[in-house]
Amino acid sequence: MLNSLKLELEKRKADGLLRQRRLLDSPQAEHIVANNQHFLSFCSNDYLGLANHPALIAAMQQAAGDSGVGSGASNLITGHHRHHDNLEKQLAKFVKLPAALLFSTGYMANIGVLGALMGRNDAIFADKLNHACLNDGAYFSLAEFHRFPHNDVAALETLLKASDAKHKMIAVDAVFSMDGDIAPLAEYLTLCEKYDAYLYVDDAHGFGVLGEHGEGSLNHCHLKSPRIIMMATLGKAAGVAGAFVAGEQVVIDYLIQTAKSYVYSTPAPPALSATLSESVSLIEQGDDLRAHLRMLIAYLKDNLHCKKWQLLPSETSVQPLVVGGNLEALALSEYLQTLGILVPAIRPPTVPVNTARLRISLSAAHTLEDVKALIDAIHRAESEL
Ligand SMILES: *Cc1c(COP(=O)(O)O)cnc(C)c1O
Repeated sequence: MLNSLKLELEKRKADGLLRQRRLLDSPQAEHIVANNQHFLSFCSNDYLGLANHPALIAAMQQAAGDSGVGSGASNLITGHHRHHDNLEKQLAKFVKLPAALLFSTGYMANIGVLGALMGRNDAIFADKLNHACLNDGAYFSLAEFHRFPHNDVAALETLLKASDAKHKMIAVDAVFSMDGDIAPLAEYLTLCEKYDAYLYVDDAHGFGVLGEHGEGSLNHCHLKSPRIIMMATLGKAAGVAGAFVAGEQVVIDYLIQTAKSYVYSTPAPPALSATLSESVSLIEQGDDLRAHLRMLIAYLKDNLHCKKWQLLPSETSVQPLVVGGNLEALALSEYLQTLGILVPAIRPPTVPVNTARLRISLSAAHTLEDVKALIDAIHRAESEL
């Protein structure tokens, strides 16, 4: 086995697919120190610049003082602290759904929810570009698994029409993590009503950013229905860590009993929940941050003009510049690094073959000057490479 691992790693390297971790010596922010070098970074999902926010640092320090650093037991024993409970109630109220449940990560939430709600006689319908953990959740559930082409409502309807599964669930990213576009959620909900299906919305990249006050994609699309179950991560725009699922009370009650990644896992420290309560308040009051972010997005779209590379049509903070080949995408990313700018090259299997890209991630913490510097650097790269 060890020999085949070695061969596989060598093959990845030859294909330009070997990934390397950068060693960070600063907080996650727009200016970082990675591998002992200073960079202007367009890498993080910290879309509102909260990961290093003084009010959240103070909240975590205080909460560690009053609730300790560890949860110590699973949720159904003595691990469920008042800080967790307060945050669940606050989140449910914020997204205007009857109830919410915390998970330690988004990955665990998706595996737990799909695994608990769907079973052998059921069917899950998933966008081909969904995040990997929705696929793993479907695999876990043992339900039939149908994947439809990206955002293709007609193809999805054909699959739903042909299905005789007991329970049907459409599971999609609301904002696609590597494309930045928004799923046609209203059309999906119409299909749910027509074919007696449910809609599971993974709002990892919409929560905090979209919606009237950052409530997320459902609010952005004006959707409300007992057929909807939403999940959002708390390590992206919310700046901390974790995830929550929200929906009808009966769904949450059922998940508390049956979601394995909830029941058989130690919850995140209560101090994280106390910090997140503060973070959700900042999100709610963050209209100025979101207005600034929208301005930066519009500026980038209006002013980045490439002939070789294509900026995908996205209105969100995820702005992908498709380069094509793996080595070409890496070369562009490395060139920008020589100018002190860090933008990650995203390669297969995270994205389809021949669509390797730079994933430009904008944050409210960026200034207009930061975005101008990025645009200049990419224009320079296009004439130099
Ligand atoms: C990041 C992400 C997840 C996983 O969330 P974590 O909290 O990082 O585990 C799930 N779904 C999508 C769409 C994501 O982008």
